[in-house]
Amino acid sequence: MSIELKIKQNIPLAPLTTFKIGGPAKFFLEIESKEDLLGAYEWAKEKGEQVAILAGGSNILINDNGVDGLVVKINNGNAVVKGERMECGAGASLISIARMSASHGLSGLEWAIGIPGTVGGAVRGNAGAYGSSINESVETAEVFNAKKKKFEQFSQKDCKFKYKESIFKKDDARHLLIWQVILRLRKGKIEEIQSLLNKYLMYREKSQPKLPSAGCVFKNIDIANLCEYNANLANEANEAGVVKGGKIGAGWIIEKAGLKGKTIGGAKVSLEHANFIVNTGKATAEDIIMLISFIKQQVRTKYNAQLQEEIQYLGF
Ligand SMILES: Cc1cc2nc3c(=O)[nH]c(=O)nc-3n(C[C@H](O)[C@H](O)[C@H](O)COP(=O)(O)OP(=O)(O)OC[C@H]3O[C@@H](n4cnc5c(N)ncnc54)[C@H](O)[C@@H]3O)c2cc1C
Repeated sequence: MSIELKIKQNIPLAPLTTFKIGGPAKFFLEIESKEDLLGAYEWAKEKGEQVAILAGGSNILINDNGVDGLVVKINNGNAVVKGERMECGAGASLISIARMSASHGLSGLEWAIGIPGTVGGAVRGNAGAYGSSINESVETAEVFNAKKKKFEQFSQKDCKFKYKESIFKKDDARHLLIWQVILRLRKGKIEEIQSLLNKYLMYREKSQPKLPSAGCVFKNIDIANLCEYNANLANEANEAGVVKGGKIGAGWIIEKAGLKGKTIGGAKVSLEHANFIVNTGKATAEDIIMLISFIKQQVRTKYNAQLQEEIQYLGF
């Protein structure tokens, strides 16, 4: 089938996100093969349309008016274990690969259990939890360079990982699409890996809201930076034992600012975890943005600290 026939129009995107918010894509294509990927970019160039990438939709806020251009949904979700390596399509689900590696007695992805995103989305944002993140396991990534119209190999070093950052997240890297990732894992004991998965799942069950969300809205705050702006708060965080890996949980500061439960329209700061904003039923992207602005302004005024969004915006 030609790419023209595969591309759909006016497709609602809200159901494809964990926030359940956002308008339609003007054009929409689910991509499983390299041929379709190349075809999509060629088609978009010919028609003068921008390409936007959507994967698990679990770290994204989509404009209420939708996305004007071609939204490609990354659906190459296959994953294969080869010795201590796992070859994952960018669209592979983090939950599936965490379970798959456990069943093969491979350790290194336990943190990913319960995270409703894909490998590609995780590499772009260097997703992680419980002191580990995907950068520790990435060996290489095969990346489509839309400017050069070719696939390129990125080593772990080329990916330039930092806390919740990678080269793919930079403003000038919109032409890079992560297509496949090779993860290097470690041999472990199945029972121990399984028991860690269960522990993390139980922890998530207890600490995270059930209502639709996009996970943590803000990045955690660097304690060294905070010391410069508000040494008292930094000391308080140290004394409260909430500094982990040199970062203070943004949720701790938001809760301290008295914002748990703060509601604007259908958007609410979660009562379970203050760094989550939940959609109580009819939240719009505008509600979420107003609540985000309010939180940032309150935290700035009260603590002289600047919160930075972890969630990504599409269609704005
Ligand atoms: C309940 C819940 C819990 C969560 N817990 C955690 C957690 O513990 N730790 C954590 O780090 N995150 C967490 N998240 C956030 C989210 O799941 C992760 O950030 C995830 O890695 C995002 O992947 P995704 O496939 O959903 O990306 P999407 O939300 O679809 O996209 C995110 C961004 O990445 C871009 N993108 C996606 N795929 C590609 C690709 N192949 N190539 C280039 N760009 C791409 C998109 O254009 C977009 O800008 C949580 C989310 C929820 C809802």
